[in-house]
Amino acid sequence: MTTITVEASELTRKYGGRTAVNDVSFSLNKGEVLGFLGPNGAGKSTTMKMLTGNLAPSHGSVEICGINMMEKPKDAKALIGYLPEQPPLYRELTVDEFLTIAARLHRVSRQHIRKAVDIAKQRCGLTEMGKRLIENLSKGYQQRVGIAQAIIHNPMVVILDEPTVGLDPIQIRDIRALIKELGGEHSVILSTHILPEVEMVCDRVQIIHKGTMVFNGDIDVLKQQRHGSRLLLGLKQAPAQEVLLSIPGVEAIEVLKDNLFRIRHTPGAVPTEALIQAAVSQNWGLFQINPDQTSLEEVFVQLTFQDAAVA
Ligand code: ADP
Repeated sequence: MTTITVEASELTRKYGGRTAVNDVSFSLNKGEVLGFLGPNGAGKSTTMKMLTGNLAPSHGSVEICGINMMEKPKDAKALIGYLPEQPPLYRELTVDEFLTIAARLHRVSRQHIRKAVDIAKQRCGLTEMGKRLIENLSKGYQQRVGIAQAIIHNPMVVILDEPTVGLDPIQIRDIRALIKELGGEHSVILSTHILPEVEMVCDRVQIIHKGTMVFNGDIDVLKQQRHGSRLLLGLKQAPAQEVLLSIPGVEAIEVLKDNLFRIRHTPGAVPTEALIQAAVSQNWGLFQINPDQTSLEEVFVQLTFQDAAVA
């Protein structure tokens, strides 16, 4: 049985007269990593703040494991670990001191604090860093401390706002591996504007644009959109276009450079085999045939800038 850990219904937030988040609804299951994706200013942080009870929605509600955030904020918040975009670190403290305070703030019972600190450090690769001052750690390690404070009370839901911003590629790789691992035991919501991050780490993805959800689905569905219904075909001695168009499934042909053609085909009727057979039997000099992938970036731009393209 799946357990719903987060249920957001019709979340809306206005700043003055401007709507920053408009009617966003979704649910999250235990063990899922959800990527919350959108360009800067799309409304990601505003949504995160409403999910964590740090900002009241103008309309709509949040439930964490069935507990309403507005009605029982303390109980709902106890089930959440949150790493804001600016990690709340006391840089003049050691890692152990800071995590001990974080454990107290999260109401971990006194006799369990030491164990909780040890477990969080171990999970975040900080075991050797306990006595180090936070200000002397690299940004990647500081981010680990930020994640450690978010999971110190073993919450059901971990919410991370842009956790890899400002890190170098190796630190990014490590933090992503850590997030993926956290997804095994907790539900994770990860906000980011980096597409490969979502592809590597998340099971599900939601794309928000100008405060409105424009995509909500499985990461595989998003990846499938990349494949589209196009082939790249290279023929040294290409026949007339009508000949290619007569092959079942072929809908349109675009001539690219160097004897290369982009073939658009009916979805679900990939004409690869028919094209190869025709090319071989009629000596078209076939030198290339492969799916023409759209990059995830293109899919993202198609989803988020459709109105800009029309304008
Ligand atoms: P993101 O996290 O996706 O970059 P934000 O949630 O920070 O987006 O912002 C969404 C929109 O709301 C932006 O247009 C931003 O300028 C506006 N906004 C965010 N916080 C405030 C605030 N405290 N007061 C007024 N406008 C805000």
